[in-house]
Amino acid sequence: VMSKNKGSESVKVVVRCRPLNRKEESNGPAGGIVQMDLRLGQVILRNPRASASEPQKTFTFDAVYDASSKQRDLYDESVRPLIDSALAGFNGTIFAYGQTGTGKTYTMQGVWLDPEKRGVIPNAFDHIFTHISRSQSDKQYLVRASYLEIYREEVRDLLDPNHGTARALELRESPDTGVYVRDLTSCVCKSIKEIEEVMNVGNQARAVGATDMNEHSSRSHALFLITVECSQPGPDGRKHIRVGRLNLVDLAGSERQAKTGVQGDRLKEAAKINLSLSALGNVISALADGRSGHVPYRDSKLTRLLQDSLGGNAKTVMVATLGPAPQHYEETLTTLRYANRAKNIQNQPRVNEDPKDALLREFQREIARLRAQLNHRKWRSKQKKEQVEGEGWERDGDEETEGEDEVEVEVEKEAQEYVKLEEQRLEREKEAIREDQFLLAEEKQRLLGEKERMMGDLRKEQEATEQLTAKYKAMESKLLVGGKNIIDHTNEQQKMLEMKRQEIAEQSRSEREMQQQMLVQDEETLELRETFTSLQQEVEAKTKKLKKLYAKLQCIKAEIQDVNDEHVRSRQELEQTQNELTRELKFKYLIIENFIPPEEKNKIMNRLTFDPEEDQWKFQPLVPAESKSSQMKKRPTSAVGYKRPISQYARVAIAMGAHSRYRAENIMFLELDMTPPNTSSLDRSTEAEQNQSRSVDNSPTKDRGVRKSRSCARLYSPSSYLHISLRSKYEPLSLIEIVVLFYIVTFIVVTFFVPTFLNSGLKHCVVFMSFNLLICL
Ligand code: ADP
Ligand code: MG
Repeated sequence: VMSKNKGSESVKVVVRCRPLNRKEESNGPAGGIVQMDLRLGQVILRNPRASASEPQKTFTFDAVYDASSKQRDLYDESVRPLIDSALAGFNGTIFAYGQTGTGKTYTMQGVWLDPEKRGVIPNAFDHIFTHISRSQSDKQYLVRASYLEIYREEVRDLLDPNHGTARALELRESPDTGVYVRDLTSCVCKSIKEIEEVMNVGNQARAVGATDMNEHSSRSHALFLITVECSQPGPDGRKHIRVGRLNLVDLAGSERQAKTGVQGDRLKEAAKINLSLSALGNVISALADGRSGHVPYRDSKLTRLLQDSLGGNAKTVMVATLGPAPQHYEETLTTLRYANRAKNIQNQPRVNEDPKDALLREFQREIARLRAQLNHRKWRSKQKKEQVEGEGWERDGDEETEGEDEVEVEVEKEAQEYVKLEEQRLEREKEAIREDQFLLAEEKQRLLGEKERMMGDLRKEQEATEQLTAKYKAMESKLLVGGKNIIDHTNEQQKMLEMKRQEIAEQSRSEREMQQQMLVQDEETLELRETFTSLQQEVEAKTKKLKKLYAKLQCIKAEIQDVNDEHVRSRQELEQTQNELTRELKFKYLIIENFIPPEEKNKIMNRLTFDPEEDQWKFQPLVPAESKSSQMKKRPTSAVGYKRPISQYARVAIAMGAHSRYRAENIMFLELDMTPPNTSSLDRSTEAEQNQSRSVDNSPTKDRGVRKSRSCARLYSPSSYLHISLRSKYEPLSLIEIVVLFYIVTFIVVTFFVPTFLNSGLKHCVVFMSFNLLICL
């Protein structure tokens, strides 16, 4: 109805309010703050803190469901048409949005064991398989299911057996199918039971991974994906495939997560928790606005996955869930505003005809191939049988053109017969060989062995055929063919009942649409229809109208004020986050500038690349991409022909054949430097160097009268044994010591070496000198 251009339709938005729960009832007599006009599809919200005179807020939607609504009603009226479209080859999305505890999971899944309370997803299973069982027999279907969740901006496969430990999945984009999850498990389902099993497995994986299920489910988005492929012969005689993709989404709780006062990693985490949800809000705003060209789909995983569902090739239903409790007024109002905005989104759904990636096509090809193979095998056996029997058969071997079940059965029977006959024949021949007396024992053995082998071959061939048959049957059973009763409770009566229910749902929907239109027209045409008999009457009528319009004006003013307030609040929050992030950034810069060497920084910078798919900066691998297959660096030229890089020295040594240990080893033989290291005071360092170069002997050198304290280190080869010996420690002698020494030496010389020449005078002189010395001492 609201379509702007051909082929486009708006997102359907329905609102559901759950009953007051026991705790809320006991809280006070205030009752709910949500009223609903089912006939008009309106929600009237009362502000519990406002005065009675303040006008109530009214929102209009495609349908509203109050506390007494049944799961079935919501399904038949609002979801059934969507699933029908998906079965016809459209993309369809249904997502539940609302505060935690308002009934998103109840709406999507409900209570499985109670047929009355089963939610959208189990009802959709029922619907899909019932539809298939009732469709014409020339249709073939393939149904697949996947289940994933987005938690802290990571996509996790809930059907992966190692869900808990597996890496987060990546999103990819292809021009044909749009955005998809790489390596996501998808299970082919043949019946309601199988697809329910898939759902259960996923739900269990979800619960296992979570420490606190309530918190986990209020912070994660769960997406159940169903792909229905249908092949049907077209007017051109060829089979055409239509693919409908269904996204059934249970979103995280929409309440604001408090993120005041958190820092560092906790801040990042807090920012991630509802990043997807706030991004969804931004996408919806951008789309509803219609003015801004840029839609920020890329801001989060969720919005990327739902890109087609919001403003793209899909039919979309949004179920906004509300709680009636007064204390959640703010949240309820936000949800209603959000939902109201989503109504304006325009989608362009179209049937997905013959997409390249249809799995059904692959299945059909594979089945045809297996069938041909099987037929060939059986035909071969049959031919052989004919040879064995030596009689001509009436029919030609053109089974493949006839290709019908009867022929197949016949061929199969013949093949089995052939095997039996062959076995019997071989047995007989073996018997004959054993009985033959003219044959040598050796010859007998050989012939018997040969027959044995032939029998083995025969059995092997039979086994292979059986395997092929099993594979073929397994594949074929996955394809669901219309017209076959795969559901036991489908009788005519039930069918009629469902049709009637559907009709009623259809009627009430169109009635509501009409009512809504009438309401709009009423207001517009009010003045046109009125004719005034007197001036007084006209004044009255216009005053009344003025009052009405004034009230409306007040409403809108209040709305503007509210929206402004909300805007300011969210801006403040964003600014705060920005401040914190800026601070963090400055801190990181500080570290980089002051503690990381520039060349290291440059190395890292050069390796950085931006991955637009992941929306992240990434390091390029150290190994260049071209040699990625080997994951090895190229061999350096110095190592060609050798086990490892080798030095020039070692190569020369090898060439000279000097030492076996150089062979292919990079060992250099170095003579140990026997020079004792020396230490000296700094001002003498140049001298010390000169000394060091010359002093090969181990004795302390006494150069230019300078005595140095020195320690000598000696390296003992080959054990690298370090032996340090402190040789001596000299200090300059004082003047007195020199004089004393001089006297002693003179005394000794005079006394011992020249006594023969000495006369007494000299002797006296020596005594005198000794005396002097004594005095000096
Ligand atoms: P959400 O998934 O939004 O956090 P739930 O679906 O878990 O909320 O619902 C919270 C509780 O309210 C559940 O116990 C559920 O049974 C109950 N509930 C929700 N919606 C309804 C409804 N329409 N009728 C009856 N009970 C409901
Ligand atoms: Mg939930």
